[in-house]
Amino acid sequence: PQVTAAPKSPNTLQAYTKDKLSDQMVEMFEACQQQTSDLARKETCRARLQKDIQSVYAVARLYLTGSSMNGLGCRSSDADLCLVLTGNKRHDPIQVLSVLQRFFRSLSYVEKTQLIRAKVPILKFREKGSDLEFDLNINNTVGIRNTFLLKSYAYADLRIRPMILVVKKWARHNQINDASKGTLSSYTLVLMVLHYLQTLKEPVLPSLQRDYPECFYHLMDINMVPDGPKHIPRYMSRNQSSLGELLLGFLKYYATNFSWDKQVISIREATALPKNNSQMWRNKYICVEEPFERNNVARAVHEKIKFDAIKAEFAKSCRILQDRKDLNSILPVRAII
Ligand code: ATP
Ligand code: MG
Repeated sequence: PQVTAAPKSPNTLQAYTKDKLSDQMVEMFEACQQQTSDLARKETCRARLQKDIQSVYAVARLYLTGSSMNGLGCRSSDADLCLVLTGNKRHDPIQVLSVLQRFFRSLSYVEKTQLIRAKVPILKFREKGSDLEFDLNINNTVGIRNTFLLKSYAYADLRIRPMILVVKKWARHNQINDASKGTLSSYTLVLMVLHYLQTLKEPVLPSLQRDYPECFYHLMDINMVPDGPKHIPRYMSRNQSSLGELLLGFLKYYATNFSWDKQVISIREATALPKNNSQMWRNKYICVEEPFERNNVARAVHEKIKFDAIKAEFAKSCRILQDRKDLNSILPVRAII
């Protein structure tokens, strides 16, 4: 039998930018992606905060998570932080955050603290005199695990980072990227893009949890987690679609193919699972499985009007982009970069 070898993955994006739309996506990615200096600023602040917090909680360790660390950040992205408190005592997140909110008043480099009592409570604050915003949670260590899983996906193929950055900008521009207003969190959007890329006839991505269980098991020591991505090589995909083709395909998939009422997105399984009647998925408009905890990361979308707005945006942008093949038709490139 004839076996066709998978083509070698190209080393530059050039092979995936044969059209104007793809070029525009690369242009936006290069202008907006987080810079080394942005990360350095966040890291300096993290280290300083960790040291200061240790004067209150001696065992505290502070981790940068989210798009600052997963390769999917923009210059304007906030810095998500997880404070890990170990030991025998069970820490009530609200109580710890209240203590920290008071303590932060004594720090010269912190301002505008705000305690948010959500399901995962967070303390929001800013670095004084800058526009750098932080979101700090207590012991929500799943965020550390999934940050490094996402980082592995981000670098598994050259197309992932530009593709996701453009989708995030598109969603933000069209006001469907704000979980606090009942639309999609960035995290949900990222999982939606990865799912689309995993379920193409020629997948652009595999399930990394399935292929590298030794890097992503749920109970791995949290200190080992940041090293996981180092052990994962580039995925050799037979899919050679351009960035523009993938963006159009993504919009089309959610505008026409995906069954919101019957399917659950699972990047863990690299497939759409049938929606069962469990409490987790029942009466939910959008079902996206958290890869480690397996709960619904899209639970913020709980109003029909917001769900309809999200679907309408996919349908409208898909139609326009199919006709025009110009990124400006759905996202004003110049105004954004
Ligand atoms: P942005 O660049 O817009 O800030 P982001 O990648 O930081 O995007 P967020 O939605 O702000 O994405 O989430 C930050 C991090 O918090 C995620 O990377 C993830 O680690 C964690 N997180 C967010 N929502 C959930 C959730 N429902 N369950 C588990 N972890 C979550
Ligand atoms: Mg963030």
